[in-house]
Amino acid sequence: MEKTFLMVKPDGIQRGLIGEIVTRFEKKGLKLCAGKMMVVSEEQAKTHYIEHESKPFFGSLIRYITSGPVFAMVWEGKDAIALTRSMIGATKPTEAAPGTIRGDYAMEMSRNIIHGSDSAESAEREIANMFDADELLSYEQVTAKWLY
Ligand code: ADP
Ligand code: MG
Repeated sequence: MEKTFLMVKPDGIQRGLIGEIVTRFEKKGLKLCAGKMMVVSEEQAKTHYIEHESKPFFGSLIRYITSGPVFAMVWEGKDAIALTRSMIGATKPTEAAPGTIRGDYAMEMSRNIIHGSDSAESAEREIANMFDADELLSYEQVTAKWLY
């Protein structure tokens, strides 16, 4: 089983989309291991988006992600990273397919509602950046035998 870090960004919180987003992943069959409302610190934001450090939009990206509460989550499941990335949809709203979260709700690349890890290495780094190890719960998912 694979873990991934997902985060409803400040625009998603303000638009009241936490429930809608959590519901999609729950219905799919993923297991929620951790979830919390938090305000991302500037230091956490810079670590989270380290790969974009040299991009022209880096400054505004950091201001945006630290601008208000986010809902940070860890989800687990078979191929959880690829699966959640496909449910999230493309970064650009014009390329995000209908039926994906961004395809259904986002108008702007810089206001695209949700983050999802793009690799196992990113997931590990992103989870450690936002959660203490004891915040991740391990429990039996009773539906697992019908999902897999
Ligand atoms: P994703 O979130 O799909 O993994 P990236 O890792 O490429 O996308 O970018 C991280 C985030 O930075 C995006 O979700 C988006 O909010 C923002 N972003 C990416 N490219 C741009 C851009 N050209 N202009 C403004 N914001 C951008
Ligand atoms: Mg990314």
